[in-house]
Amino acid sequence: MKIKKVVVIGSGTMGSGIAAQLCNANIPVTILDLTTEISKKARERIYKSRPPLLIDKSKIDNINIGNINDNFNTVKDADWIVEAVVERIDIKHNIYEKIFKERKIGSIVSSNTSSIPIKVLSEKLSVDEKKDFCITHFFNPVRYMDLLEIVKNQDSDIEKINSLKKFCEEDLGKGTIICNDTPGFLGNRVGVFAMQVAMTEAFKMKLSIEEADSIFGRPMGIPKTGVFGLYDLIGIDLMADVLKSFIKELPKSDEFQEVAKEIPLVKKLIDTGYTGRKGKGGFYRMNKEGNKKILEAINLETGEYFQSKKIDIKSDKVDLNKLINRNDKYGEYAWSVISKIIKYASSLVPGVTDKFNDIDEAMRLGFNWAKGPFEMLKDIGVKNFFEKIDNVENNVFLENLLKTKNENFYGERQLYTEIETLGKIKSKAITLDKNDSADIYRFKDFNIVEFKTKANALDYNSMDCLKKATDKPLIIINESMQFSAGVNLTYTMNFANKGDFKSIEKFVKYFQETCKHLKYSKYPVVSAPSGLALGGGFEVLVQSNFVASHTNIVIGLVETIVGLIPAGGGCKEMLWRWSQDEKAKNDPDFAPLKVFDIIGYGKTAASPVEAEPLKYLLPENKKIMSRNSLLKISRKILDDNKDFKPPNECKFKLSGEKVREKMLNSLEKLYDEKKILEHGLEVGKELAYVLSGGKTDLTKELSEDDLFKLELDAFMKLIQTQKTQDRIKYTLSTGKPLVN
Ligand code: NAD
Repeated sequence: MKIKKVVVIGSGTMGSGIAAQLCNANIPVTILDLTTEISKKARERIYKSRPPLLIDKSKIDNINIGNINDNFNTVKDADWIVEAVVERIDIKHNIYEKIFKERKIGSIVSSNTSSIPIKVLSEKLSVDEKKDFCITHFFNPVRYMDLLEIVKNQDSDIEKINSLKKFCEEDLGKGTIICNDTPGFLGNRVGVFAMQVAMTEAFKMKLSIEEADSIFGRPMGIPKTGVFGLYDLIGIDLMADVLKSFIKELPKSDEFQEVAKEIPLVKKLIDTGYTGRKGKGGFYRMNKEGNKKILEAINLETGEYFQSKKIDIKSDKVDLNKLINRNDKYGEYAWSVISKIIKYASSLVPGVTDKFNDIDEAMRLGFNWAKGPFEMLKDIGVKNFFEKIDNVENNVFLENLLKTKNENFYGERQLYTEIETLGKIKSKAITLDKNDSADIYRFKDFNIVEFKTKANALDYNSMDCLKKATDKPLIIINESMQFSAGVNLTYTMNFANKGDFKSIEKFVKYFQETCKHLKYSKYPVVSAPSGLALGGGFEVLVQSNFVASHTNIVIGLVETIVGLIPAGGGCKEMLWRWSQDEKAKNDPDFAPLKVFDIIGYGKTAASPVEAEPLKYLLPENKKIMSRNSLLKISRKILDDNKDFKPPNECKFKLSGEKVREKMLNSLEKLYDEKKILEHGLEVGKELAYVLSGGKTDLTKELSEDDLFKLELDAFMKLIQTQKTQDRIKYTLSTGKPLVN
C-alpha cells in the first residue's frame, strides 16, 4: 500500500513534529485540532522551530490545517491517519469512532500514545477495524529522534504493518522497531528505568547532581545532559506523570516500582513551579546576579541551590571496565547504575521482546546512547560481569548466560532492519588498521574509515587513517551522532600551551596533504555525513569526490568564530565552488566576496536544502532521509563509478589587492558599527588575505598548493595570537563563542 496523503489529529508537540517530518518527506499532510486556530499556530511553530523541524521551509504548504468538526472529511482521502491528541482514553476512543466512520477502507489508523496499551486503545474496534490499527510511537523531536516503535494488534494485517514500517524507514527515515504490547514498549521502559536508577542511586550514595551527570553521561556513552540535566529538559512534572503511568500499568513485583517511588524533593520542585527548563528552573537553574547569569545546582539533601561546579572525572573515552572498577565513589556509582540497568533490561527478555538486540537499538535511536545495556554487558565482558554481580536469580537471560559464559553472545547488530547498515557490516568486515581516533575496515572491495573520538574531532591520527585507507575505494562514515565537529581544539591548544607551534604546523600540513590525497587519489572517496560536519569535518567532506548526506546535518565553516580561518582546504574549495557560478564569469571578485561573507560570519546550514545556496553542498550530492541507508547509497555511488577518474587540479585567478580592498572596507564598516571588535577585525583581515589570493593579480594563476600555503600562513599567524587562544579556551570551556 502506498502512503500519499496523511491526516494527523492533534497538533501539539508530537502531532506537529510528525506533520513536519511528513512534510520533509514531501507527503501532503493535514493537521486537525480542536480549532483551526490551534492548527494554524502549530504550523507557525513548525515554521519557526529551532532546531528546525523542517528541512526545507519552502515546503510548508505541504501542511494543511483544519479542525476536527468542519474538516473531518479530509480523513476520507488519507492513506494514513495518525492520532496524536492528549493522553486520555475517552478522547482517543471518541476520535477512533469518528475516524472509522469516515476513513476510506484499507487506510491505516495509528495512535502516538506513549502509555496506553493497544488492547485498551482498540477495545471498541471491530475485528476488521483492528486489522488496520496500530500504535506508531514517535519520539520528540520527531525530525531528530530516530526511533519509531510500532505496536501491532493480535489482529493486525501484517502485510500492512510491514509496508508502514518500510515507509517510515525509507521515507521518514526512522529506525522502526516492532514491539510487543507492554507498558512503555522498549525505549521508555528501559530508558526511564535507567534515568530513575541513575537518580535514586545518586540520592542513596549522596552524590551531587553534577557528579551524577558527569558519570551517567559521556563516560557511559550517554549524552552529556546526564540524568538531572535530562530531567530538566524533559520536564520534571511530565516525568512524574510518566512514572505514575508505569506504576499503574506494571505489576507490583516489577523492579520498576522500586525506582519510580515519589521522591519528596521532586514533588516539592513540581509544587513550587520548578518543573525544569520550561519552568523556573529544575535541578539546575540560571540565577541572575546583576548582569551576570550564574548556573546553579540543587543540593539533593537540603534542596538549596549553589553555584554549579564542573566535575571532571578524567575519562574522555568510553571505557566501561575502567569506569566500574575505579576505586572511588564514582566507580561504585557507575557499577551500581550499569549493573541495575543490565539486570532490568535482561529481565525483560523474552517477556517484552525475544530480541534483546532491539532493546539496545531502541536506546541508541530513542535516547542517543552509544551502546545499549547488552552491548555494555558485552564490553564489560561476560566473565567480568558475573564476577562482580551479586546474584542473577529469576533472570532467565542472565542465568542462561551464566551457564554458557559465552563472551560472543551478542551476534549481529540492528536486527530490526533489513537495510545493510554500517552497524551490520562492521562485524563481517576486516579491521585493516586502527588508532585512538579512527578505524579502517575492509569490506568486500572497498574501505571504510570510521572516526571515533569525542564528537569525532579530528587530529593527526584521524588523518593517518584517512590517508592509509585510499588504497581502495573509500567511504567515510560513522555510527555516532556527529560526522565530525571539526579539528580537535583541545589537541591544538595542548601544543599552543607549550609554545609548540611547529607541531601545529606539522598537523595542519598533514591535514592539507591528506585532503588533497582524498581528492586526487586513484580511487573514489565518498563522505556520508550525519549530524555535525563543521570546520575540519566539512573540509574532509568537501574534498571527497562524492557526498551522500543525511538530511539531519549541520554543516559549515565556523573557524572564524574561534579566531582562526579554515586551513585544511576549506577556503580553497569554497573559492573554487563559487568561481564556477554563472555570476563569477564576468566578475572575478564575485567568488572571493561571496566566500568572504560565508566564512567570515561562520555561516552554517541546518539541512542539505539550506546548505545548497551556500554551496556547502552541491545539487549532485545525494540527500537521504534515512540514516540507515547512508552506507547503501554510498556503495551504490562506488558501484556507479567503477571507471572513476580523479578530477583535474583547480586553478585560480584572483585580483589580490583589488578585491582585498573591498573586503577590508566592509570589515572597517562592521568595526565602526561595533559589530566586530579588534580581534574580529584581525581575523577578517587574515581571511581577506587568503581569499584575495595574497600578492597576486588577475594576470597570474594560482594553484591549489598556493592556496593551501596562504591558508596555512594565516592559520599559523592567528593561532599564535593571545586573542585567538582566548577564544578557543573560552569555547572549549563554555561551548559558546567569545567576542573580542
Ligand atoms: P500536547 O498536549 O502537546 O498536544 C495535544 C494536542 O491535542 C493539543 O494541541 C490539543 O489541542 C489536541 N487535542 C485535544 N483534544 C483533541 C480532540 N478531541 N481532537 C483534536 N485535537 C485534540 O500533547 P503531545 O505531547 O503532542 O502528546 C500527544 C500524544 O503523543 C499523547 O498520546 C502522548 O502520550 C504521546 N507522546 C508524547 C510524547 C512527548 O514527548 N510529548 C512522546 C511520545 C508520545
